[in-house]
Amino acid sequence: MKKSKIYEGKAKILYKGPEQGTLIQHFKDDATANNNEKMEIFEGKGVINNRISEHIFTLLSAIDIPNHFIKRLNMREQLIHEVDIIPLEVVIRNVATGSLTKRLGIPDGEKLTRPLIEFYLKDDLLKDPIVSEEHIITFGWANQNELDDISSLAFRINDFLVGYFSALKIQLIDFKIEFGRIFKNEEVHVILADEISPDSCRLWDFETKLKMDKDVFRESTGNLLDGYHEVARRMGLININEVSKNNKPTLIKG
Ligand code: UDP
Repeated sequence: MKKSKIYEGKAKILYKGPEQGTLIQHFKDDATANNNEKMEIFEGKGVINNRISEHIFTLLSAIDIPNHFIKRLNMREQLIHEVDIIPLEVVIRNVATGSLTKRLGIPDGEKLTRPLIEFYLKDDLLKDPIVSEEHIITFGWANQNELDDISSLAFRINDFLVGYFSALKIQLIDFKIEFGRIFKNEEVHVILADEISPDSCRLWDFETKLKMDKDVFRESTGNLLDGYHEVARRMGLININEVSKNNKPTLIKG
């Protein structure tokens, strides 16, 4: 049966789900950077990100972070709860790099004295400008209660992920997450949506500081998939030593 597409983004497609209130999230191989100025296809990226994001969302469910993930359906797709996406990109930073260093002149690689939360408006035409809580409330992108929930969830997610990645000898520099509204028990709740993968996180090797994330593509410093595979290997999701017929690392059955 042909699925009905309801949205296509840069790295993912959303289809109607099998039941009311569900969607299918499909991970593509496309990578884009600098607001679509740069674009390339990395064969297998979608498969890896589907697995990495599934694993992280499952761990987050175990610590009671409400999120949209229901189950993985196949190599590239997962079943999710349909939400009304809040039009904000929520960025949490532990170490200064990227736009923070450019905007404020903070030295690259400087550890922040405490995690920093930032909000960007999801708007490609405006190039996702940074916004304050005052902007968010004034223009109604979220209300104060929702913003409080978003911030506290974002810090809890950060605390958990910093520890999780440390155990894999990976430093979580920063990451972007998105939230959505869902109607449950006659109330509107804010839950984590979208994905968490090396497309949306900065992940550096603890010792070598080697980048294992989309910056490799943004900065053209190597093969993006090498880093993604290394993250997935350390997470126990793929076996790099065992290659398949077409010379790809094999996925560990989950
Ligand atoms: N990020 C993202 N999508 C975006 C912009 C940023 O996933 O459209 C992530 C990025 O991977 C990094 C964090 O958010 O982990 C902070 O990015 P920054 O603001 O430094 O952006 P950049 O330097 O890429 O412009």
